[in-house]
Amino acid sequence: VPELPEVETMVRALRPAVLGQTIVRTRLVHEDVLKNRTRSAFLRGLRQTTVVDVQRRAKNAVFDLGQLRLVVQPGMTGSFTTLPRGEAAPIGDYTVLSMALGNDKHLVYRDVRRLGRIYLMKPDEWATFSSRIGPEPLDPTLGAEEFGASLRRSRQAVKKVIMDQRRLAGVGNIYANEALFVAGIDPSKPANALTRDDHERLLGAIRRILGAAIRAEGTTIRDYRTTSGQPGNFQMQLFVYGREGEPCLDCEAPLVATHTIDARSTVFCFRCQT
Ligand SMILES: [Zn+2]
Repeated sequence: VPELPEVETMVRALRPAVLGQTIVRTRLVHEDVLKNRTRSAFLRGLRQTTVVDVQRRAKNAVFDLGQLRLVVQPGMTGSFTTLPRGEAAPIGDYTVLSMALGNDKHLVYRDVRRLGRIYLMKPDEWATFSSRIGPEPLDPTLGAEEFGASLRRSRQAVKKVIMDQRRLAGVGNIYANEALFVAGIDPSKPANALTRDDHERLLGAIRRILGAAIRAEGTTIRDYRTTSGQPGNFQMQLFVYGREGEPCLDCEAPLVATHTIDARSTVFCFRCQT
């Protein structure tokens, strides 16, 4: 966390607060998250730019500033807040970046563990960066054919492959577990052993799970909060993630957890996922 639905939730909440706003002043409290510019080039670049748009790409929030893109990947514990006029941007509460906007609001990015990343890119740098990320699962032009062709190129476990950002954007551990359960596919199955029918079911399951998670404003396991400070709600709807030993919601067999696929927790039903 945050995966695609959490970043999408952040971006949707940010949009009305920042669109058309000028970034008047920027404070960078911690520069270890800044990946491709020096502190001074970063601050100079942002000065008096206007937020034309903010979009999500994979697990990144991408601020279109006209001639520049501010790209924030919130890592494990990053989140945005906007503070109202007059309220000073707080220091010492994990604030990494604070931007005073033309409407007197502050856009604040916090990150407890600072595993997130911040980039400032020219449009061509962003285009190169984005071209290395796989297709968006919710993009309706992504067909089961193209998705399947990508899976067929790997002998690795299907769970690993759908979490590989070069093959598919935005899916992490939680939603990979959930989608494989919904599709009835064994997470350890080699990706190239999946059938055409599997490709279609799996892509459909990924889309349904991500769509439902966006509607629930994401999943809060520990730290994730929406931009308004609320936890997400999708943890109430999880089928397998975090439920090892509990009964499968379909067949009531106890759910099994393994760490052998990718060193992360994979939870599945040995009866329903074959
Ligand atoms: Zn089952």
